[in-house]
Amino acid sequence: QDDKFKKVISHAKEYGYVFQSSEIYDGLSAVYDYAQNGAELKKNIRDYWWKAMVQMNENIVGIDAAIFMHPTTWKASGHVDAFNDPLIDNKDSKKRYRADVLIEDYCAKIEAKIDKEVKKAAKRFGDAFNKEEFVSTNGRVLGYQEKINTILSRMAKSLENEDLADVKALIEELEIADPLTGSKNWTDVKQFNLMFGTKLGASAESAMDLYLRPETAQGIFVNFLNVQKTGRMKIPFGIAQTGKAFRNEIVARQFIFRMREFEQMEMQFFIKPGTQKEWYEHWKETRLKWHHSLGMGADLYRFHDHEKLAHYADAAADIEFKFPFGFKELEGIHSRTDFDLKAHEEYSGKKLQYFDPEENKSYVPYVLETSIGLDRMFLAVFSNSLQEEELENGTTRTVLKLPSVLAPVKAAILPLVKKDGLPEIARKIVDELKWDFNVIYDEKDAVGRRYRRQDANGTPFCITVDHDTLEDNTVTIRHRDTMAQERVKIDDLRDIIKKEVDV
Ligand code: ATP
Repeated sequence: QDDKFKKVISHAKEYGYVFQSSEIYDGLSAVYDYAQNGAELKKNIRDYWWKAMVQMNENIVGIDAAIFMHPTTWKASGHVDAFNDPLIDNKDSKKRYRADVLIEDYCAKIEAKIDKEVKKAAKRFGDAFNKEEFVSTNGRVLGYQEKINTILSRMAKSLENEDLADVKALIEELEIADPLTGSKNWTDVKQFNLMFGTKLGASAESAMDLYLRPETAQGIFVNFLNVQKTGRMKIPFGIAQTGKAFRNEIVARQFIFRMREFEQMEMQFFIKPGTQKEWYEHWKETRLKWHHSLGMGADLYRFHDHEKLAHYADAAADIEFKFPFGFKELEGIHSRTDFDLKAHEEYSGKKLQYFDPEENKSYVPYVLETSIGLDRMFLAVFSNSLQEEELENGTTRTVLKLPSVLAPVKAAILPLVKKDGLPEIARKIVDELKWDFNVIYDEKDAVGRRYRRQDANGTPFCITVDHDTLEDNTVTIRHRDTMAQERVKIDDLRDIIKKEVDV
């Protein structure tokens, strides 16, 4: 699995998808740049989301709020006081870790033991094996499970009570070692705020402390009444937005899974208080369907319902995706109650209420949030699409089976040879198709190599112009996934491509 992930990262670089930021200066940790193909894929994912959320829903509109916001915003939202990670340093290695992640990793190791027991038993019992029954009756497995539960609930309680000394005590009792050096010499646990600070204004006295937004949601909340009034929106309605967010993440690893500068696609849905349960279920299902609509396979997704809730939520679930390093959060669906709007009322002194004409009264709406990381979605799609196939002739081909709707380049137009007027016809096809799709012209190398290059690049169609084209205006169209080839009329190309790449 590590191997697969390494391949994903190197493929992303080799084919112009993702580069380390400022690479010539040895890069900047957890910051990445999207290259020529990556920028297209990212844009296509953003558009696919925007279309499903904004264009297809009469009662959802989109905005684009600024990254800088009045600093009081982050007091009201709770980020100044509560957007912290508990950190611990190892005194010997001088490495810094998230204390909760160290403890969770420790539990993951116990979980692996459970898995091992289950696998062993499954082998022993064969067809007669019933996993649930085994897990609920096997003493050893139950012991492991109980240990995990005790550790995690003690950690949750300590973090909730800000009892950081107990978090450290737990790490010491479990004898958790520095994963890199094995040292068990820890400092105290300290809270560390994840927001990036900066200053507005030139002179030292008048400069105002600002934060780079750690989420896009607050730009929606502070605009709630402006949008509702100018858009004459009636509850229930939603406001969507995509944009950059910034977090000073400590455990910044796993490529673009966790970055310090990333992009979110969020939608806040404003509802009548008391209806949040229904809407929560509605948006959980709707968002899962959106993921399934890409056709990558339903088994790649699962819900994870939160037991420990954030200060603003009364229910929360993640849609998890099977990344090369296991199931991890891809999107969050949160029932945020009226926490945010009420807090902004309190801090701004302005009313943020909706007049409900049906009920003939005003109230602060409840909010349901769907929040997905664009970069994480990129990683999900990209890593799952990268495949190596054994071909019948014994060779392997690397193919990036991106959903066609998301592929950066929809078709490559290839003249079989660089003479006899074939390049001119291929160029003409490019000029016709480029009004509708991102297409490219490629004449370098033998056609077989060009096919492989496009396979690895994720291009769903290759269109080859050959000598027969001169006679009958037909071309060969080759499908990336099946490698099947058909002879079609040049005039039909637009419709054939459109059918596959349009949503
Ligand atoms: P995590 O638990 O992974 O840190 P979170 O619960 O803090 O994520 P939210 O605040 O709910 O995340 O943000 C919504 C979405 O934004 C996440 O589901 C994820 O896809 C994305 N996201 C959050 N932090 C990052 C990051 N540092 N880099 C890339 N994407 C991120």
